[in-house]
Amino acid sequence: MTQHEVVLIPGDGIGPEVTDAGLKILEAASAPLDFQVHLAGLAALEDGEDVLPKSTIDAIQHCGVALKGPCTTPVGEGFTSVNVRLRQQLNLFAAVRPVRNLEGVPSRFDGVDLIIIRENTEGLYSGVENQVTPDVVMSMKVATETACDRISRWSFQFATRRQRKKITVFHKANIMKITDGLFLRCARDVHRNEYPNIEYEEVIIDAGCMKLVQDPSQFDVLLLENLYGDVVSDLCAGLVGGLGVVPGANLGHDLSVFEAVHGSAPDIAGQGVANPLALVMSSVMMLNHLAETRDDPSCRDAAEVIKNGYDRALADGCRTRDLGGDLDTAGFVAAILERLE
Ligand code: NAD
Repeated sequence: MTQHEVVLIPGDGIGPEVTDAGLKILEAASAPLDFQVHLAGLAALEDGEDVLPKSTIDAIQHCGVALKGPCTTPVGEGFTSVNVRLRQQLNLFAAVRPVRNLEGVPSRFDGVDLIIIRENTEGLYSGVENQVTPDVVMSMKVATETACDRISRWSFQFATRRQRKKITVFHKANIMKITDGLFLRCARDVHRNEYPNIEYEEVIIDAGCMKLVQDPSQFDVLLLENLYGDVVSDLCAGLVGGLGVVPGANLGHDLSVFEAVHGSAPDIAGQGVANPLALVMSSVMMLNHLAETRDDPSCRDAAEVIKNGYDRALADGCRTRDLGGDLDTAGFVAAILERLE
């Protein structure tokens, strides 16, 4: 059986706890993966390395795929986000976050089945910030036709492959007429010229957020620029039980990095109570991606075993604290391991 080389970035905060949990489950499900551990963020700094070591970037370029724990970014000072740098340097232009109800997870809504697609490389995350005068600072929102067109086309291709019916762009082009205007123009053009069969709508983001919390079932695939995608991902996580249940993929043309939507959760780090599910779900996305791109059915089999395992555990009432249960990380991992078949 082919063993796929995969980079593992444990991250920091709860990162090492949830990635360790994920590894135990992947191993028990006989996932055909051969992990190479590489550091990034605080963990790399503490090891005396650069915050984003070249060896980590090289390893992802070599393996093509990585599974990543969250990395802390200092607020209002300190180094630039490792997460943003990784996505930009590796050109992982599409972040995909499926948001769904899981049986056994209490949530505000039933029947939620959304896919969030976030443009991952530009917008206000371009890192162009200036001190103009002592009392004036500026942050530049960058939009390029190349990136807007690329994420639009990718989203319609994705919707077609997954048989999704509708793409909704959340935007603020009434105010940011040029940048968000370009984003809209690209999405509109791709829809009109290449994918008229998929329903397409544009919603101003403030109204879109209200509609989401009133009735999320009216949306199918959401397409957003970088900052909006970041914010709306957490909002949508709140619709289905929280950050503990939303996985993610950062995809480029050849490279991909899978990680949960949540961050390093410093408030609970080191306590052994973090919910590893979003990381485990991200690893299932990774296995399905490997199955698809490398034509390896054994990856799909392992993904299926793990998904059935956590679905059963949740349906049997096994939950971590963030989902209203009383299990710690190890207890929830044990509950999944008992249900792997
Ligand atoms: P966060 O997602 O880390 O935490 C928000 C809240 O959700 C906290 O109360 C936390 O305890 C809870 N939570 C998150 N994940 C959980 C889990 N798996 N199990 C149980 N509870 C969980 O967001 P934050 O506090 O705003 O950010 C903390 C740090 O993480 C920041 O430095 C931020 O920059 C970073 N961050 C990193 C990534 C990434 O690596 N991709 C993503 C988001 C935030």
